[in-house]
Amino acid sequence: MLSSPAIITAMRQKKFILPESEIPARWYNIMADMKQLPQPMLNPKTHEPVKAEDLYHLFCKACSDQELDTVNRWIDIPEAVREKYSYWRCTPLVRAYGLEEALGTPAHIYFKNESVSPIGSHKLNSALAQAYYCSQEGISNITTETGAGQWGAALSYAAKVFGLECAVYQVRISYEQKPYRKSMMQAFGAQVTPSPSMSTRAGKDILTACPHHQGSLGTAISEAVELATTTPNCRYTLGSVLNHVALHQTVIGLEAEKQMALAGEYPDIVIACFGGGSNFGGLAFPFLRHTLTEGTKTRYIAAEPASCPKLTKGEFRYDYGDESGYTPLIPMFTLGHDFQPANIHAGGLRYHGAGAIVSQLLKDSLIEAVDIRQLDSFKAGLLFARTEGIIPAPESCHAIAAAVGEALGCKERGEKKVILFNLSGHGLVDMSAYDQYLSGSMSNTGD
Ligand SMILES: *Cc1c(COP(=O)(O)O)cnc(C)c1O
Repeated sequence: MLSSPAIITAMRQKKFILPESEIPARWYNIMADMKQLPQPMLNPKTHEPVKAEDLYHLFCKACSDQELDTVNRWIDIPEAVREKYSYWRCTPLVRAYGLEEALGTPAHIYFKNESVSPIGSHKLNSALAQAYYCSQEGISNITTETGAGQWGAALSYAAKVFGLECAVYQVRISYEQKPYRKSMMQAFGAQVTPSPSMSTRAGKDILTACPHHQGSLGTAISEAVELATTTPNCRYTLGSVLNHVALHQTVIGLEAEKQMALAGEYPDIVIACFGGGSNFGGLAFPFLRHTLTEGTKTRYIAAEPASCPKLTKGEFRYDYGDESGYTPLIPMFTLGHDFQPANIHAGGLRYHGAGAIVSQLLKDSLIEAVDIRQLDSFKAGLLFARTEGIIPAPESCHAIAAAVGEALGCKERGEKKVILFNLSGHGLVDMSAYDQYLSGSMSNTGD
C-alpha cells in the first residue's frame, strides 16, 4: 500500500492562468437552462413551496432571491467581490504531466487548483459573496456551523474582509480533535464556540439532557440558527448544498473553460469530489451548459465517499438539509437526515444529502457518481503529492482517485481522453490523516 515499487515517479506540470481582467464578471445560473427544474423546496410546516420572503429572516435577501431564481442565466458578481477574488484568482489550471507519466496513461489530465485561496479551499468563493451581500443589507453579524472547520475558516476570513462580526459553532469533538482550523478562525477574529454550548436555548437543552454530548452538525446548526434568528442584524450562512452556494462557485468552471481554451483542449470528463455539491457544481455547471444547450457529450462525475454514498446508494425524495429538521424540505438524493456517517478524514464529504440541482441532474442521467473508499482516496492523494507537489485535502483525494480510475481506463482501452478535475483544497491542516495512512493504521471506515 505504502509504495508501488514498479512506478518511479517525478514531479512535472504546466500551469495556465488568466490575467486579472479575465476573472469572470458573472456567475452562471444553470437553472435557467435546465429542461427539468428541481421540484420546489417545501416549507416543513405547511408543505407549501418556499418563497424567497420565507427565507429572509434566516439568510440575507440577495442569497434568498438567488436561491429560487430559475430565470436569470447570468448573475453579476458584485465589483467588490470580484476585487477580493483577485487577491488569489485566477486560480491555476494545471496539466498534470507527472501524474500522467506515473500512470502511463494516454489521457491528458488537468486540474483546477482551488487550494491556493487564502484559507486553502474553494469555500471562500461563496463566503465572500455571502458576507458582502450581508454587509450591503446592513447586517452586522453572521453565524454558521462548521464540522472540520473549512467553511468556518472561510466565513471568518470573509467576515473580516467586509467588517462583520462572525460567530461559528463548531462540533465539539472536531473543536477538540482538530484544533488548527479553530485557530485559523480565531486568527481571523471569529468567535468560535464548541457545540453544544450553554450560549443558546437549544444547546442548554441538549447539555441538560446529556452533559457530555460530543456535538454534531445537527447541534451546531441548531445553535447557529437560533443565534441568527434571535439576534438583531444577524443572519445565518451555509457553505454547501444550497443553490446560491453552487452559483457562487461557478467562477471555478467559468475560469477553467477559458483556461482549457488556452491549453487548446476541451474536457471529455469533468470530475469533482462531492459533499453537498458546491465544488462539483462550481466546476461542472459551466461545462454542462454546453451539454444542455448544444448537446456536447462531456461526462460529469461526482466522487463521494463509499461510507457516505448518497448519490450512488441514496434515495431521491424530500428531506431536511440538516440533522435537526430546521431547514426547508429539499428534493434530494439522501441517506436520511439522521444518517450517521463513519468518522472518515474527509469531513467535508460527511453529509447525508445532495443539493437540489445536482440531485435533479443525476435523476435525469446528465451526471454520474462514483463512490471511493478512504484507503483508495489516500493512495491516490499520495501519488498526486509525489507527482504534482501538492498535498491534497482528504476531500480532494476522492476526485483524484476518480480521475486516476478514468485515466487507467483510458490506458486499458488506448483512449486519449481529456480529464479535468477540481483540486478543492490542500491537506496541510490534515497531516494527522496522512500520518495515519503512512503508518498503516487507517481503515476504510475511520474507526
Ligand atoms: C467542504 C469541502 C468539500 C465538500 O463540499 P462541496 O460543497 O461538496 O464542495 C470538498 N473539498 C474541500 C476542500 C472542502 O473544504
